[in-house]
Amino acid sequence: MTEFTIRTSNRNEFIDITSQVRSVVQQSDVDEGICTVFCPHTTAAITINENADPDVTADIQMKLNKMIPLHENYRHMEGNSDAHIKSSLVGNSVQIIVSGGQLKLGTWQGIFFCEFDGPRARHVWVSIK
Ligand code: ZN
Repeated sequence: MTEFTIRTSNRNEFIDITSQVRSVVQQSDVDEGICTVFCPHTTAAITINENADPDVTADIQMKLNKMIPLHENYRHMEGNSDAHIKSSLVGNSVQIIVSGGQLKLGTWQGIFFCEFDGPRARHVWVSIK
């Protein structure tokens, strides 16, 4: 397992981590397998979506913010229930096929770390089998 750290700079932010994950794959000796990218946090997530047009992830964040407002009649006293809900909806891991020693992503796909309660230092765990 490989861990890398990222520093987020906004409360809500999608960070393209494709190049970091690619370098973990290239440094492994796995030619054919599965790469798991895991977010070990309860107020952040991992997803795959378009990384060519930044408006795509901006629209995802806009819609999540509308569906899951910061202030509601939440019970959790920490004041970040919106971030916990977004984390569960988006999910905390993705799996990508590794073939020929390369990540098999579609042409327009990138891997994103989704921050919902930043700014913070965050960890990403990558396992390749
Ligand atoms: Zn909390």
